[in-house]
Amino acid sequence: MTHRRSPRADAVPTPAGGRRALRLRVSGAVQGVGFRPFVHGLATELGLAGEVRNTAAGVEIELEGPETELANFTVRLVDDAPPLALIEDLHVEEAVPTGRRGFCIVPSTQGSRVETLVTADAATCPDCLRELFDPEDRRYRYPFINCTNCGPRYTITLSVPYDRPATTMAGFTMCPDCRREYTDPSDRRFHAQPNACPACGPRLTFLRPAAPSERLQGEAALAAAVRLLREGALLAVKGLGGYHLACDAADTAAVARLRARKHRDEKPFAVMAADLDTVRRYCFLSAPEAELLLSPRRPVVLLERLAAREAALADGVAPGVTTYGFLLPYTPLHHLLLRDCARPLVMTSGNLSDEPIAFRDDDAWARLGPLVDGFLTHDRPIHIRVDDSVVRAFRDRPYLLRRARGYAPLPVAFSGADREILAVGGHLKNTFCLTRGGRAFLSHHIGDLENLQTLRSLAEGVAHLQGLFALEPEVVVHDLHPDYLSTRFALDFARTRNLPTLAVQHHEAHVASVLADARYTGPVVGVAFDGAGFGPDGTVWGGEIFVGRAGDLHRAAHLETFPLPGGDAAAREPWRGAVVLLDHLRAAAGEDDAWLADCLRRLPAGDNLLARPWNAVLHMARRGVRSPLTSSVGRLFDAVSALLGLRHDVAYEGQAAILLETTAREAVRRRGLPRSRSEPAWLEAATPFAAGDALTLPIAPFVRGVLADLDAGVEKSEIALRFHHALAETAARTAAALADAHGCEAVGLSGGVFQNLLFLELACRSLEAAGLRVLVHRNVPANDGGLCLGQAETAAARLRAGRS
Ligand code: ZN
Ligand code: ZN
Ligand code: FE
Repeated sequence: MTHRRSPRADAVPTPAGGRRALRLRVSGAVQGVGFRPFVHGLATELGLAGEVRNTAAGVEIELEGPETELANFTVRLVDDAPPLALIEDLHVEEAVPTGRRGFCIVPSTQGSRVETLVTADAATCPDCLRELFDPEDRRYRYPFINCTNCGPRYTITLSVPYDRPATTMAGFTMCPDCRREYTDPSDRRFHAQPNACPACGPRLTFLRPAAPSERLQGEAALAAAVRLLREGALLAVKGLGGYHLACDAADTAAVARLRARKHRDEKPFAVMAADLDTVRRYCFLSAPEAELLLSPRRPVVLLERLAAREAALADGVAPGVTTYGFLLPYTPLHHLLLRDCARPLVMTSGNLSDEPIAFRDDDAWARLGPLVDGFLTHDRPIHIRVDDSVVRAFRDRPYLLRRARGYAPLPVAFSGADREILAVGGHLKNTFCLTRGGRAFLSHHIGDLENLQTLRSLAEGVAHLQGLFALEPEVVVHDLHPDYLSTRFALDFARTRNLPTLAVQHHEAHVASVLADARYTGPVVGVAFDGAGFGPDGTVWGGEIFVGRAGDLHRAAHLETFPLPGGDAAAREPWRGAVVLLDHLRAAAGEDDAWLADCLRRLPAGDNLLARPWNAVLHMARRGVRSPLTSSVGRLFDAVSALLGLRHDVAYEGQAAILLETTAREAVRRRGLPRSRSEPAWLEAATPFAAGDALTLPIAPFVRGVLADLDAGVEKSEIALRFHHALAETAARTAAALADAHGCEAVGLSGGVFQNLLFLELACRSLEAAGLRVLVHRNVPANDGGLCLGQAETAAARLRAGRS
């Protein structure tokens, strides 16, 4: 955006008939992003008269002046819009000139229908950062500095239109200096709703749970927190969307203490570093990854570690994996903390294992007090809790693993429906969405719906998003699983409002999600590989290949089923899957139990397996006692991980599969990606066979291949890579054959297994080699965090087809 004054701006007298008037209606993310000041500046620069106001529908502009300037204005309105603005629609209509003079910003009007977008929270901008560390600036080291280009938005917004009284800043009265900035159209803080300074704004407080009556404020509070962190203590820090638990990321004892107190055994912690140079001391960093780290969304970015031992943080930060999740400071308080501590800090969500992150001060104090040595907090309330987003770079573009802060509540485009839809998502990594027209307003990451607190977050989240965008769902969509808490919530919600409901199968929703994400409407082959989802045939699905379109998908192939003795216990104990797979092979080969015992003995860490109640588990599996059949590719990954002795029990969902990927990457580093399409030798046997009306991808060849390689002394990492490659190649060949048979030009890849970027790359290569277009996720995660979008897409398609 330019502030250069046009030489024509002063030429107010215009030739007769040259003066016209326009009314412009702008919708999109145009409130709280400095849009009205920008409009004011542009109109003034071009010498145009009129006014601008926020409405519930967006921003409305009345303009009057010479024709050329008006045309100029409409072009530059779009081209030079402020960095956080997102114009979705611009409606221009002719109005009657009234000969008015000057341009002004008028107070907001309340409209009946809210169309405008509340924007996402944005990281401190470069201008504010410069002021933060400028001793001459009146906001020098003020932890709440912000402007129209940065700062809190979604997390402080109570309702729309987005104006100060509708935010959690309502309780702070601006001092004369702040008021002057706020009302000066030429100021960067003109109508910046969270505008504040040390004289009038929020204040830092430090307290210790051990002595809660001793409070420190301002610089003293910050100094006490920094001292604590440098001494290896644990600190709760209030951020944008909730509290973090922080400690020195290089301090082994501190990190171990954090793990113990948080009851989090092995799941990696996110680490905040002051700048890119610090990140480069620990990780490989490509240009697109650096760009992701620096973006105003400031997500956690998963990065490959450097191999050198001295490039390591404390062991407990990310045990067993070769990545670190780094993020850069995104609030002024983070910048101050990181600069003063001068070391990377663990910044993990402030909760106990699976609970939602704490964001209300009293709740945080009650829940986190016992875990930490100190609290660094402040008096600007957080209205809605939002976790940090997590992203990786895949083929140099963002690939989301968790969509939350910085993204929510911005909508994602989908095929659209006439009726407003509520899609409640799945069970794990829950997100929901509400739709209007072609926009799906996706919630932030709610979490695993395994306790009442998370369920309450879902209910509150739905109510809040409904309020923000005045959405009144007319159809409610849920997973086919009758016992998911999300399903029960959906049925309750629909019953009390007398709304129709629609159940969508889990993996059909995954495929529809990637179709919506890629905006693809043609017929496709859809591959949904993940952990587990309810199948209509009574088996647990998770390795499914469909043909068709969103809303009309047919299961054309799936992984051969195998029993999961103990059900959910089998997901936590991958060794059970390993035993079951060996038994599968034994039966196929016509061998006896002695053969099986011998197999177990020969496995790496076989003694460990033999010490387990493997006989009892086999018994259960063979007799079908509490042993649902599954076609889950996620469980196959787990079982292979256990066969290789990488992991027999898991501390978090997906851990065994992550270790298998990590191990396979060692081989990739050594010899690159597999080139030949016929490598390894055991791939040839993995040909799908027809059974019933769907193809079956056999599992025996994979198990046989792994065992043969182990017997031949092939290195584990090589075997892990061969397994990845063989499975990707088999899936791709099957998908290609189906695409050929059904006239599809594209293949969509979705489901939690595709968080494994090595597997994703191998699958993409195989499919591309077959001349197919590959659709991958970009705007929502491939895991269950993207499920709600697929549910909405499916419902929209069925509504269009009149089959709801
Ligand atoms: Zn700023
Ligand atoms: Zn002030
Ligand atoms: Fe899933």
